[in-house]
Amino acid sequence: MTQTLQPRSHTSDAVVIGGGPVGSYTALCLAKLGVNVTVFEEHPKIGVPSHCAGHLSIRSLRTMGLYPLPNGIVENTFRTANFYSPAGTKFSISLSHPVTTVLNRARFDQYLARQAEAAGAHLLLNSRVQSLMISEGYVKGLDIQAIGKKEEKIFSRITLDAEGISSRLLKQAGLTALKTPGLVYAVEAEVENLQDIEQDAVEVYLGKSYAPGFYGWLIPRLDGTAKLGLATNRGNPREFLRELMSKHPVASKQLRKAKITQIGYHAISLGGPIDRTYANGFLAVGDCASQVKPTTGGGVIFGLTCAKIAAETANKAIKQVYFFSDALQIYQKRCSDLLNFDFMVMLRLRRFLNSLSDTKVDEMLRVCSKLGVGKALRNEDEIDFQGKMLAKSLAKPSIIAAFAYFALLYLSANP
Ligand SMILES: Cc1cc2nc3c(=O)[nH]c(=O)nc-3n(C[C@H](O)[C@H](O)[C@H](O)COP(=O)(O)OP(=O)(O)OC[C@H]3O[C@@H](n4cnc5c(N)ncnc54)[C@H](O)[C@@H]3O)c2cc1C
Repeated sequence: MTQTLQPRSHTSDAVVIGGGPVGSYTALCLAKLGVNVTVFEEHPKIGVPSHCAGHLSIRSLRTMGLYPLPNGIVENTFRTANFYSPAGTKFSISLSHPVTTVLNRARFDQYLARQAEAAGAHLLLNSRVQSLMISEGYVKGLDIQAIGKKEEKIFSRITLDAEGISSRLLKQAGLTALKTPGLVYAVEAEVENLQDIEQDAVEVYLGKSYAPGFYGWLIPRLDGTAKLGLATNRGNPREFLRELMSKHPVASKQLRKAKITQIGYHAISLGGPIDRTYANGFLAVGDCASQVKPTTGGGVIFGLTCAKIAAETANKAIKQVYFFSDALQIYQKRCSDLLNFDFMVMLRLRRFLNSLSDTKVDEMLRVCSKLGVGKALRNEDEIDFQGKMLAKSLAKPSIIAAFAYFALLYLSANP
């Protein structure tokens, strides 16, 4: 992987801002299509610092040709999810086989970057994109600030923005930024010395007392360590984590001897995709376009899914030498056709969950157990396209009953 700055006298057909998973995958797809593409990443090393739990669906990774992964990236696989109310009521969904995996995100990002380079993409580290070059209403390239160098201008026919949640450059292209009411603030810690943990289960702690606006999670690795985190739409997430570790009836027992070895903070955008993801000579993809699941905050699979469409759109524009937004809008249309139903359902689910008091969360988990919702979902391995998954599950009587109950719960919470 390129670690030092190379001379940049060349002009790329396409430039990608950011060497996160979405930026690298965009570059990989472009390079495979024969496009001359350069990725600019501000950090000296891909994937570092990492801000993500790396909990992904095996099925989606497989569909994208990214599973199985090389040794050292997969840290564990899971077939069970345990959900807890703030009072400690437990509801489990346990499948017959592993459906999710937790990845070492830094190594996963580095793997994607290496794949992109192997396919012919150029990757420049230590290279911060300061601003977009805009001329006559078109994005024509980038101003780069490399460490220890003067600012440089890089010309490009098309720019693909994968800068992540900061979305600073997005605004310069005239696109609206992420929706602030949809943002939650996360803390994620590396922990060791866990007690009473099922190794093939992820733990999810629901309820306003411990994680208002989101939830807490514990994702164990096979080596006895785990990723522990939560996100909130108010207050200080670190304080909420302290409360979870010391007072939650289940988490406090699992974590009574736990030691935090590392801690980090980052925002997650749950508001659904931004209104417009394209401009003249410009496409936004991944977290910066808020292509993130509003229920779980997972952005990797949807980001990679949209990255492929962005690459195909950019390739077509390059071939036709036509970069006006009316040609690029097909990118947004294809992403919407694929994901809008799921986003619509997940946004409603998020609103529903946020509306519940802790007592109602407790009641909801009890009802789910009683109705056998876990059993009804036993063979369901779709966790990304949740709208389609839910629509399919509505053929099952226990899911219909649970759905009717949730509707009543929502109406009673929002009269
Ligand atoms: C605590 C937490 C846990 C999460 N857990 C999960 C999970 O389990 N599963 C899941 O699917 N998703 C998860 N997510 C979301 C996931 O991390 C993101 O959706 C994913 O990283 C998006 O990838 P990206 O490439 O769009 O952005 P990023 O991963 O943020 O990458 C953006 C890259 O662009 C670079 N960059 C930014 N600005 C510039 C610039 N001006 N010039 C050059 N480079 C620049 C950054 O350095 C970075 O490398 C989690 C998020 C958080 C905060």
